[in-house]
Amino acid sequence: MSTSSGWATASPSRSTKGCDRCENCIKGWYTSCLNYGDVSKGHRAKGLTCDGGFAEFAVNHINTLYRLPENLSFEQACMVTTAASPLWAIDLMGGYVAGETVLVQGPGPIGLIAVQLCKALGAARVILTGTRDSRLAIGKGLGADHTINVRNENLSDRVREITGGRGPTASSSAPAARARCRKRSRTSSAAAASAWSPGTRARSRST
Ligand SMILES: [Zn+2]
Repeated sequence: MSTSSGWATASPSRSTKGCDRCENCIKGWYTSCLNYGDVSKGHRAKGLTCDGGFAEFAVNHINTLYRLPENLSFEQACMVTTAASPLWAIDLMGGYVAGETVLVQGPGPIGLIAVQLCKALGAARVILTGTRDSRLAIGKGLGADHTINVRNENLSDRVREITGGRGPTASSSAPAARARCRKRSRTSSAAAASAWSPGTRARSRST
């Protein structure tokens, strides 16, 4: 992590600065910069397109620095960006998951935090999907009510079974998991992606 006198980058290894000129950056969606990876246009992704947290010294644009409050450790601050992504997805889905059944597709760091956030926000049921049992087991330990390994089980059938045929009321997914599951699930009433592939345009959709 790049730190000095209480300042820290938004993430230890991947703070992002957009080009500040494309459609997504102007909307404030700089992590979805349409000039992703183009250093000549001002885009920077720490640890990916320029030196990151493992460098002895790294230059950070002032827009990527935040002064941490005294009561927040660097370790805790590391999770801020990871938590922000699913929180944004929940906001896109309407911001209200209390009493709902939420389908979280993908047990990566963001998906696992999405599970915890949805439970903390009062979701009645959280269903977590993935392809690795070890990751799904972690999700179960963090509060997922049901897990589905989509390599071994049919997603739509299992979701209908769990929800008594109604399907989830909301779903949140990572891009890879969304692509993998798109053909298998048409049941959610609201959907949002919690992370973006480089160069994609942010959007929400209902199915
Ligand atoms: Zn941009």
